[in-house]
Amino acid sequence: MSVIGFDEALRTILSAVRSLTAENVALGQALGRVAADTVVAEEDAVPFPRSAMDGYAVRARECALATQSNPIELPVAGHVFAEEGEASLAPGTALAIMTGAPVPRGADAVIPHERTEQLDDSIRIFAPVAPGDSVFPPGEDFRRGDELIAAGEILNPGKLALLAFAGKPSVRAIRRPRVAIVCTGNELVDVAAMPMHGQVRNSNAVALSALVLAAGAEPRYEGVARDSRAALSAMLQRAQLGADMLITSGGASAGERDLVKGALTDLGAEFHFTTVAMRPGRPFGFAKWGGMPVCVLPGNPAAAFTCFQKLVRPALSRLSGRCDTELPRLHARLDADLHGRPGRPHFVLARVRCEAKGFVAEPLANQCSALVRTAADANAIVTVRETSVGSTGLRRGDVIEVEVFDWSSVFRAPCETHLAKEPAA
Ligand code: AMP
Ligand code: MG
Repeated sequence: MSVIGFDEALRTILSAVRSLTAENVALGQALGRVAADTVVAEEDAVPFPRSAMDGYAVRARECALATQSNPIELPVAGHVFAEEGEASLAPGTALAIMTGAPVPRGADAVIPHERTEQLDDSIRIFAPVAPGDSVFPPGEDFRRGDELIAAGEILNPGKLALLAFAGKPSVRAIRRPRVAIVCTGNELVDVAAMPMHGQVRNSNAVALSALVLAAGAEPRYEGVARDSRAALSAMLQRAQLGADMLITSGGASAGERDLVKGALTDLGAEFHFTTVAMRPGRPFGFAKWGGMPVCVLPGNPAAAFTCFQKLVRPALSRLSGRCDTELPRLHARLDADLHGRPGRPHFVLARVRCEAKGFVAEPLANQCSALVRTAADANAIVTVRETSVGSTGLRRGDVIEVEVFDWSSVFRAPCETHLAKEPAA
């Protein structure tokens, strides 16, 4: 067994995984995808000066002497609507104009409706206007040649709208990774089944599928392989077809029934490492199988969850073409002492909350890797670095960096339900 340090494990994975190829994606399907190319505007947006208000297009110099006591009166010669194309303003007149309509030739300012007095066929103006008042100049949004999207950026709603406005119905985006998930363990039963003595329900299939989906990739759950070489080999071979990554859960350590690494090796996968100095998650292994990355996770639910967040998620980010491979961090005040262990970092599941004086991180009381509940209650990971024997790790009150995997719950007050109740019978 080759044990490597956590940092080296992460480096090894990131240098072994490349971004997938790009494809054309319609804007409606592109939310959350990673732009493969830099996109540049081919035209000014918008190319004409537009009215910023509902009001009257005028020549500013004709209104220069207007005052409250000595207003200027201009006849209204007609209307300009946005869709009607180009109009022109005759000297000594005003044109009623709608928001967004092109400023007519000859006009250089718009006076908002509410700053005029409307008579039958004319308006009165009580204050001067400056050229450009209430007019959006051409190219205010962006100009031809401006960068709209940089390669590697994540396409959020605002960026998709920008591409739409620039006349791009589709965008080149990195393909979503297709991730095959294989669970193993003779004791596992289906979620809907009643476990017999010694059996447990399979929670990792759901956890890993959801984690893959949340990371912007496409999970494909293959099922549970029995703990035998033959069953594992058959399912692994089927799973790798058409997959960009393979994740296995369970059977990863050194017990009699832990056959995954051996089965993969027999099938031709080459392990870069088979054990990582980390807690939890020591049995984590990483291989390449015909060019495809394979992440072998331990079955213990909290360990599988932490391994995903710390090692699989970065690999998926890399495959998806994202620049950022780590979880986003914040600074928080630690709510408890955490002891360091010699030899390996401890990734502690914690709950971060936002208080008036800043963020507070509360490590969950039970860090046992066999629990399912811990990941459900947590929203963040606190890293307690490996220490030389005898040092303390982290102290209550220390301000530390925390990695957050569920932002919405950081800011959420305890939930009072807003769900509609069935009316009482
Ligand atoms: P293993 O890694 O196969 O030695 O499994 C370690 C522990 O995790 C055992 O108690 C298993 O029952 C449990 N376990 C393994 N796979 C799953 C799973 N898919 N869902 C829930 N628990 C699991
Ligand atoms: Mg097992």
